[in-house]
Amino acid sequence: MQAKLFIGGRWLGSCQLDLITNKYTGEVIGEIPKATPDEVEAAIAAADQAAPVMADLPAYQRAKILLKTAQILSSNQEEVANLIALEAGKAIVFARAEVDRAVCALTIASEEAKRIGGEVVPLDAVPAGEGFFGMWQRRPIGIVGAITPFNFPLNLVVHKLAPAIAAGNTVVLKPAEQTPLTAVKLCEYFAEAGLPDGAINLVHGDGPTVGSQIVTDPRVRKISFTGSRAVGQEIISRAGVKKVTLELGNTSPVVVARDANLDLVANRCAFGAFYYSGQVCISTQRIYAEKAIMETLKEKLIKETESLKVGNPLDEQVTVGPMIHEDEAKRVQNCVEQAVSDGARILTGGQRKNATYWPTVLDNVNGSMDVVSKEIFGPVVSLIETESFEESLALADATQYGLQASIFTKDIDQMFQAIKRLDFGGIVVNEIPAFRADHMPYGGNRQSGLGREGIRFAIEEMTNIQMISIKLGTSS
Ligand code: NAD
Repeated sequence: MQAKLFIGGRWLGSCQLDLITNKYTGEVIGEIPKATPDEVEAAIAAADQAAPVMADLPAYQRAKILLKTAQILSSNQEEVANLIALEAGKAIVFARAEVDRAVCALTIASEEAKRIGGEVVPLDAVPAGEGFFGMWQRRPIGIVGAITPFNFPLNLVVHKLAPAIAAGNTVVLKPAEQTPLTAVKLCEYFAEAGLPDGAINLVHGDGPTVGSQIVTDPRVRKISFTGSRAVGQEIISRAGVKKVTLELGNTSPVVVARDANLDLVANRCAFGAFYYSGQVCISTQRIYAEKAIMETLKEKLIKETESLKVGNPLDEQVTVGPMIHEDEAKRVQNCVEQAVSDGARILTGGQRKNATYWPTVLDNVNGSMDVVSKEIFGPVVSLIETESFEESLALADATQYGLQASIFTKDIDQMFQAIKRLDFGGIVVNEIPAFRADHMPYGGNRQSGLGREGIRFAIEEMTNIQMISIKLGTSS
């Protein structure tokens, strides 16, 4: 696939090309032009020029474009899923699910586009407001700079583009350099659906050059970033006076109470820790369970883990494919080897072949090991035995992160105890932390980020509140 830059409604080539590979075989599947500083400037200028056009586009028309994009995407499900499987190395079954979710997110955005309102403010609640009529409304923020990671090359792009368009904004998008081809398809579908020229502009290239130029440009009024904590920190320090949403990493914990259904826990945790090789921001990384149930849980989790098929993501039976790059698989291998040399035990897994790292379950770990304290972002999960439910909650919360956590229990009091004790943006009960419906508020506390996504919540972050105060009785 020969992809291009999309600027002001035109597809443009560039002289410098990057090769995009099949992450399982290494074979070249496409070429992508690297944007020069002048091309990034042209993309921002095109977004700036289209901003008033988008702000004036009626809500029903924005809704129609979003719905049409959803329909075009849906009718190309298999082609896009294949592209995700190839460029991201994601198992085809999960690639198809990603397309389905993106169709839902676009559809929800088309509905939300019609609900962006405001409210009347009773200004006369204070003496200063007597004789005034007040109301506020949400106005488009202008240009949204969207910077996305490799792991959900379609749905996480949709989570930025769809609310931005629903709110009447324009966008400059820079997808991850490892997985840009899916974003190209999405932009083609938006254009086919009738999006005005310049409303979405697509540039490719590295974060520190192309991404940074978008982040620092004062015409860009909002940065919506999903990626690592380190890059998030860099972005917020350089963005200047603009709104910033950061969707960062996590070390997702699962707390298993004594009364939990351990078959369910083992089955769901094997899925939650290893699907897409753990390269998911809410991948299950730490499992806390009391002594009384640990041995049984361990046996069941090992069995479930060993039943997963590892291999080529295009194989319908495979659920664990390669990591995004061999260097990433080596990083995970080193992290596990370090833990083992510090006393951890590998219960299953621990092998690597090229970019593939086998689903790995550890025990005998402690909170000072990187496999527990840092985001592993790979197919490794740790089992941690505790003395009590309270200790499980305390250890689960002892992290710098705070995206999503989960608890398995049938006891309503324990459930509410966990909800109160865990400082996470999302608490999931009787399901893994990776649960996400695309319209729910989603985002992290602490070092996991700032702001929320989930279409309605992203629209709030991508609009400014405008207050209107009208003095009455001045016309006579
Ligand atoms: P990354 O931070 O390396 O890259 C993300 C994007 O940022 C890429 O497009 C990259 O080119 C760009 N970038 C890099 N340096 C930049 C800079 N200086 N200025 C501007 N842009 C820059 O992340 P990744 O490896 O692609 O993704 C993995 C990370 O993303 C993990 O930490 C994961 O937890 C996180 N993630 C979070 C969520 C969430 O919703 N919270 C979802 C998916 C992934």
